[in-house]
Amino acid sequence: MTLQWQSSLIIQLTKGDTMKKIITTISAALVLFAVSSPFNSIAKSAEFFSIGTGGPTGVYFQVGNAVCKMVAKIQSAEHGRKKGTDKAYRCSAPSTGGSTYNIGQIMQGELQFGVAQSDWQYHAYNGTRPDKVKPYDKLRAVFSAHPEPFQIIARKGSKIKDWKSLKGKKVNIGNPGSGQRGTFEVLMEAHGVDTGYFGATSELTSSEQSGALCDKKIDAFGYTVGVPNAGVAQSTDGCGASIINLNTDAVKKLVADNPFYAFATIPKGTYKTSKKDVTTFGVMASFVTSADVSEDLVYSVTKAVFENLDDFRKQHPAFANLDPKKMIVDGLSAPLHPGAVKYYKEKGLM
Ligand code: GLU
Repeated sequence: MTLQWQSSLIIQLTKGDTMKKIITTISAALVLFAVSSPFNSIAKSAEFFSIGTGGPTGVYFQVGNAVCKMVAKIQSAEHGRKKGTDKAYRCSAPSTGGSTYNIGQIMQGELQFGVAQSDWQYHAYNGTRPDKVKPYDKLRAVFSAHPEPFQIIARKGSKIKDWKSLKGKKVNIGNPGSGQRGTFEVLMEAHGVDTGYFGATSELTSSEQSGALCDKKIDAFGYTVGVPNAGVAQSTDGCGASIINLNTDAVKKLVADNPFYAFATIPKGTYKTSKKDVTTFGVMASFVTSADVSEDLVYSVTKAVFENLDDFRKQHPAFANLDPKKMIVDGLSAPLHPGAVKYYKEKGLM
């Protein structure tokens, strides 16, 4: 029963007769509304869940919000409730500290899903870097999204051209909880140095670092992020910063030794200062959950995403090449959640 229908009923009866009739009708309509309104049934049975993302200017934030939009779309197509059950899913995708923060919150049950770099997904599931991400063998993969090259963005005039010339400079290594913070530390270890190699280090968030670079408070920052990215553009297009090549022997060894790293290219022309292709290493952004999250919820989210991939691709240029066959394999080191497997098998993707 809709509100519109009730008001026309009331108007018809008003034309008919007495005040008593009107009052009786209004009360009956209100009771009926309370019992049968679709809004009311959603409020009663909606199940809310949250997706951890990253900084508001990053690409994770776009992933999380794209997923919520697709979930809302599929749910409203099914008349606000999941077919065959009395449940509707509603979601939010708040900005967070990033990968390792998201995994920690999934572990606590505070978040049901999160976006995380494939290196930190690997280490959390396998318990191989307990100093950087909490071991969590109940971590489950759902799909992977876009590639994320690790980028060092150097301020114009800083004279930073490569890893060596970062020595003694003021460098932002990222906020604790972010994926880039951990990956930057791995990169330092691989080169046999620590923060003492730099003149100074800061822990600014991804939304603060570009401003700090253009204000000359820092000389460079490290960021693992999809391409293109508005935050990076703020410093390249905004104040002439450029992305340096990272193809030292130590980087080559990292790529050779670890399944979750691969070489990545940031093509010339990506940003105003991208005069040449840049070579670096990178990871995949992956969408993860917990084995404790219900099969029904993971199935519903997976279905919403894979049945609206065209919408997903249009949300951000980093998603333009999303390929379902790759999304269920690339960058996934934790086992797939059974809810996702159910959908992939049903669709013949697996
Ligand atoms: N890779 C970053 C992290 O793990 C986030 C990048 C983004 O927000 O798009 O924290």
